[in-house]
Amino acid sequence: MDPDEISRLVNDLKLYHNDPNDTINLEEEDIKIEEERLLRCLVAKVLSPKAINRDAFRQQMPRVLQSEKRIIIEATGDNTFVFEFLSLRDRARALSEGPWHFSRNLVIFKEPTGWNNPRSMIFDEIPIWVQLHNVPIALMHEDLLLKLGGKIGSVVEIDKGENGACLGRFARIRVRINTMQPLRKCIRINAMRDEEDLYILLVYERLPDFCYACGRLGHSHRECDDSMADKVNLNFGA
Ligand SMILES: [Zn+2]
Repeated sequence: MDPDEISRLVNDLKLYHNDPNDTINLEEEDIKIEEERLLRCLVAKVLSPKAINRDAFRQQMPRVLQSEKRIIIEATGDNTFVFEFLSLRDRARALSEGPWHFSRNLVIFKEPTGWNNPRSMIFDEIPIWVQLHNVPIALMHEDLLLKLGGKIGSVVEIDKGENGACLGRFARIRVRINTMQPLRKCIRINAMRDEEDLYILLVYERLPDFCYACGRLGHSHRECDDSMADKVNLNFGA
């Protein structure tokens, strides 16, 4: 049965079948087995306004993740999938690395939370490496990079380079960004002196397709439903 159809039927049943005497109470042992299983699972969502090909996704994702062991992948509808990993190392990589792509769409992984339906989970964050170009050497130190990273999202890691001094052609920060917000293109710095404001340019590594009109991930400018976005000049195109 189609997962979308099941979800609809379950919602209908909740309205009429709510007799507490006709309910199974789970034992502690049953719950423990389920909780142990949750530790091997992740829920993934493909950010696309169109329904993706589930069979192709199930076939290709183990290769995309370069998993060392088998992964059982089940569709739960609405471009959402449950992954059961036989290797916990594969699971940890799927969660902490990326961004992952399927057919140029972003795939977001999240840890399942208890008894919640995977389809009701919110997938609004990804960790991504961001390059900061045009940073003067004087500002290339950890405290200031943390401050700059905080303007993009929540900082996960700072690439300190081989000698641990944060010096290089550009700074590199891994940040958890909110996928619902437009991507930030730059950070303006005012040094509180007479000099002109400084513009730090942001380059996102391994970014999937995004909307050049509104700057958000998960759709193209042709699919954009943001009435405020400029679909002619495509301000995020460059
Ligand atoms: Zn858009």
